[in-house]
Amino acid sequence: MNESQDTTRRAALVTGSSRGIGLAVAEQLAAAGFNVALNCSSEAGLSALREQAGRIAGEHGVQVVAIAASVADEAEANALVEQAHEAFGRLDAVVNNAGITRDGLMVRMKDDDFDRVIDVNLKGTFHICRAAGKIMMKQRYGRIVNMSSISGVGGNAGQANYAASKAGVIGLTKTIARELAARGVTANAVAPGFISTDMTDALSEKQREAIGEQIPMKRFGTVDDVAHLVGFLASEESGYITGQVICIDGGLAL
Ligand code: NAP
Repeated sequence: MNESQDTTRRAALVTGSSRGIGLAVAEQLAAAGFNVALNCSSEAGLSALREQAGRIAGEHGVQVVAIAASVADEAEANALVEQAHEAFGRLDAVVNNAGITRDGLMVRMKDDDFDRVIDVNLKGTFHICRAAGKIMMKQRYGRIVNMSSISGVGGNAGQANYAASKAGVIGLTKTIARELAARGVTANAVAPGFISTDMTDALSEKQREAIGEQIPMKRFGTVDDVAHLVGFLASEESGYITGQVICIDGGLAL
């Protein structure tokens, strides 16, 4: 242990936490008393991420570190988990939130667009789970929360790559839940419907209205809706829930 480590608090890593759902999850965990490692995909975003880290630390009185790393890259993903663990001397919760879309109809989809989405969303999640799983098994405690999507549960026209990656996240989560359960480590997937973030801002106003009409609750979700659920799954109190996929979609996939 080094002297700057505060090992009295639980510690969490949230991938892809520069904005959107990931940032809201990081804030939720900080509010719950976790020290938190924030992450963005590259050095270009690091100074803005450090500003967020300073703000969250100030608001919640916890330690927050900012780490640039692409989860799609094995070495960077391993280093990300190592640095988060080193910063706090423990790693209690990992939220695999980093994700991208490269939408298009399957018949016109380029291999590059298929591969990149799988590399970030699925392989990135695998990289982080593997590195964090080793630490959590030794600790005999851990909470892994993986961000899937209702596209991964029921498919979605225009998202062959994304839906495949998010369905893969579900298979990965259920498998590691079985592998890690006896060591006190849970793994669950969260499957959001349409949540207002930069990702869904890419939809046109007309598309957003049409989707809104199909949602029983008649609104897009907020990042805080998702953060509250993730906060619970990352807490000690969720300890008898593992291998589950929890949809948070205003009733869309009912
Ligand atoms: P967003 O606003 O587009 O933010 C994506 C985050 O992921 C950013 O912090 C981004 O960091 C990070 N990221 C992207 N590629 C990365 C990489 N290779 N390594 C590390 N970080 C990377 O997305 P969001 O809407 O909040 O979505 C968050 C998660 O929820 C995703 O997994 C998404 O698939 C899932 N989801 C979202 C919705 C929705 O309606 N919004 C619905 C279902 C599921 P940079 O700043 O470096 O780009």
